[in-house]
Amino acid sequence: MSDIIQILPDHIANQIAAGEVVQRPASAVKELVENAIDAGATHIQLIIKDAGRTLIQVIDNGCGMSTTDARLCFERHATSKIRQANDLFTIRTMGFRGEALASIAAVAQVELKTKRDTDEVGTCINIEGSEIKDQQQCACQTGTSIAVKNLFFNVPARRNFLKTNSVEFKHIEEEFFRTALIHTNISFTFYNNDKLIYQLQSCNFHQRITALFGNNYKERLHPVEESTKEVKIKGYICKPEFAKKTRGEQYMFVNNRFCKSFYFNNAIEKAFSDLLPEKTYPSYFINLEIDPALIDVNIHPTKTEVKFIDEVIIYAVLRSAVKKTLGQYSLSTEIEFNTIEGLDLNPAPAPRGYIAPEPTVKVNTNYNPFSSNNTPSYREPKSNRQWENFFDISNETIEAPKQETLFEAETNTEEPNIEISTSSVVQVFNQYIVSNLGSGLLIIDQQRAHERILYEYYMGQTDKEIVSQQLMFPVQCSFSTADAEIIVEISNVLEEMGFRLNRLGNTVFVVTATPTDMNDDEIQTKLNEIVDDYKNSLMQKFNDKQQSVAMSIAKRLAVKNGKKLKQEEMQNIIAQLFSCRLPNVSPFGKKTMTIMKENELSEKFK
Ligand code: ADP
Ligand code: MG
Repeated sequence: MSDIIQILPDHIANQIAAGEVVQRPASAVKELVENAIDAGATHIQLIIKDAGRTLIQVIDNGCGMSTTDARLCFERHATSKIRQANDLFTIRTMGFRGEALASIAAVAQVELKTKRDTDEVGTCINIEGSEIKDQQQCACQTGTSIAVKNLFFNVPARRNFLKTNSVEFKHIEEEFFRTALIHTNISFTFYNNDKLIYQLQSCNFHQRITALFGNNYKERLHPVEESTKEVKIKGYICKPEFAKKTRGEQYMFVNNRFCKSFYFNNAIEKAFSDLLPEKTYPSYFINLEIDPALIDVNIHPTKTEVKFIDEVIIYAVLRSAVKKTLGQYSLSTEIEFNTIEGLDLNPAPAPRGYIAPEPTVKVNTNYNPFSSNNTPSYREPKSNRQWENFFDISNETIEAPKQETLFEAETNTEEPNIEISTSSVVQVFNQYIVSNLGSGLLIIDQQRAHERILYEYYMGQTDKEIVSQQLMFPVQCSFSTADAEIIVEISNVLEEMGFRLNRLGNTVFVVTATPTDMNDDEIQTKLNEIVDDYKNSLMQKFNDKQQSVAMSIAKRLAVKNGKKLKQEEMQNIIAQLFSCRLPNVSPFGKKTMTIMKENELSEKFK
């Protein structure tokens, strides 16, 4: 029998490669815009028609190509970006495989016009399904224009596979965002069906985000910055209350290239963890600057996935940088410390090599609101210590929490004073605790506040030891087989939080102690609820046992809205809340307090 292996002709090999590189119009947009960036363009125009089906054109003012290069660029493995295998480890350009133009030209009709600054005339080439149709000299501006017409004209299967115009357009717009967001020194215009839809001037990162996402992002964004020898982090996160129901607004870049990293995304989401309502995702725009030698971008043809050598360290730095910002934010919202003189909320960046500690915001360390032997309950104060003791009171002025624990090495700020009247605390609608604050009214949601207090207590984030109430008589609780397995699975955590359980039979447990005083029949209910909450939390990725059970217990044991509270109970809630690490939000990401400022009040009397 004769040999059967044949080398595929170029145009077929290109078409096959095109399947990987050009899946839809958006992929062509990505490749063309990246080439323009690599060519050093400072202005890029993107023009599309019919969601890129009939036309995708990218015009740049970059370096242009010589006549020979203009012809060569459509060959497979034609690239000016690497010369030897070693170059792969120092790649800073967007492309380097030399596949994109060859692939695009294999599945479309392409017109290229290009001219270098030093050339009198430019070159115009028409190529169709990998076949050069004509080549001429032409008059054109310095730079390159590539028009991709009738994408997939010769691959009907691909064409049929495309989604509706609105879906394909969304993909293109997303690709545009990913590039335009981070290349802030390049100005962009984007025309869709002859209509100008984006016009972006060269600007800084903050301005670019608001130019693309809207001016209301100005207040949402908080800077994240950190610099160590492994990574330089720079970017913005959105305040937790603006978290989205989908992961749409999560932009991570590595060396100015958009990249998807499940792992690093997790670092950020972990930092947000107890600040977000369930099933919401934080928005962020973050660039990581990493030595290209420590990255492998070569693992995927479209290069949005990346491998890192110092992955674990970068994870920790990233998470702590985001936490640091959130820590500042938690202090700086509602009670606006940043308007108070002397408190620097934007301290100088940490020195190189310094890994920021997780925020540990503690107030007046002399006062321990959990000093009695009981669980922090709203009923706690048996002494006459009141919440304001928790701040250092002189002349009815109260010290605000300090930032210094965060930036010990850097900042040297005076402690600001916020005046809070200590006399009047009232309950409204059996739900809100209202107190007089120097600059307005402090309004606290009793249930959410108590959830925060209990959550931090059960997470072991307070200096109070978690106690357990011995039951007079052990109580038997029984569960379904599946739930009993869950009790076993979380039994360590339950013990840490004050329960004592022994398994009696397959599905029966004997409880000998509980976190707080509970009626016998309450114990079974609470455990059922904790198991249910835990099952729900299992649906989430990266579920953390301790956190899940602490959230559940906090939710179940917190004083409920609608419950009338005594004066001292309310004062106790305020005191304990303000000694929390993150007093502003409940563990479920809901606001615990708000301030009605004096001017807002006087506004109502106009
Ligand atoms: P790669 O970007 O991986 O090198 P491409 O197929 O995208 O491969 O492009 C091939 C080559 O064509 C590039 O290396 C570059 O030299 C040249 N080229 C492509 N687009 C442009 C452009 N807009 N301006 C100048 N040169 C370009
Ligand atoms: Mg390229």
